[in-house]
Amino acid sequence: MLVALMLWPGFVSEQRCRLACSRTYMIKGDAQRVDEQQIRQQIVEVGRLMYERRLTDSAGGNISVRGLGVIYSTPRYAGSKYRWRLTPEQIVALADGQVRPEQASLVSREIRVHLAIYEHLPRAQAVIHAHPRYVMPFATLGRPIPPIWEDTQKFGMIELVPETPAHSPELAAHVMRTLRPKAEELAQHAIAVLVPKHGIVVVGRDLDDAYDTLERINGNAECILLCRLLGGA
Ligand SMILES: [Zn+2]
Repeated sequence: MLVALMLWPGFVSEQRCRLACSRTYMIKGDAQRVDEQQIRQQIVEVGRLMYERRLTDSAGGNISVRGLGVIYSTPRYAGSKYRWRLTPEQIVALADGQVRPEQASLVSREIRVHLAIYEHLPRAQAVIHAHPRYVMPFATLGRPIPPIWEDTQKFGMIELVPETPAHSPELAAHVMRTLRPKAEELAQHAIAVLVPKHGIVVVGRDLDDAYDTLERINGNAECILLCRLLGGA
């Protein structure tokens, strides 16, 4: 009876399918775990690099990445308490992009801006908020940053959102309103806005893209300031 059953083609293909499917699920599960670990590690590395290269300071900044149904974010006090020497375990995972009550004290208060971006911009895969050294004079005086380098032309003018208190729900709304006209550009490159007297928000297609753009905008801003010493820009 068993032999007869095993000879039935349906039995064989069903067994194969079961094996193949379970293997697929195992591989998928492992890949997800590797993926999560990679994302956490990359956030930690980018945070350290931002601090070392004065692209942010100990006063603040935050990094997030969109995963599979999860938003990964740097913890509260990443700069002031940990001086950007984070470990992958400190990265906070927000399931379904929601801050659960027990996570409220762990996550940065600026997470509102990040979550609004992920909700309204499906192409957004990573967000960096930072206080870069040479961007800060522009943000402080409320001046947009014109692109003066060939490799920053694509970003256009980096505009300012209306002045709004940090951590407020209004700031998230203002950032979204200013970014929305650039939403389609996100298919080609990262987009960014300045927050008056505060810093910058960069939205990327992935974290490499967001970090690269942060560096370019800060370098472009530095070059504007230095060119003025030479009587140009
Ligand atoms: Zn900030």
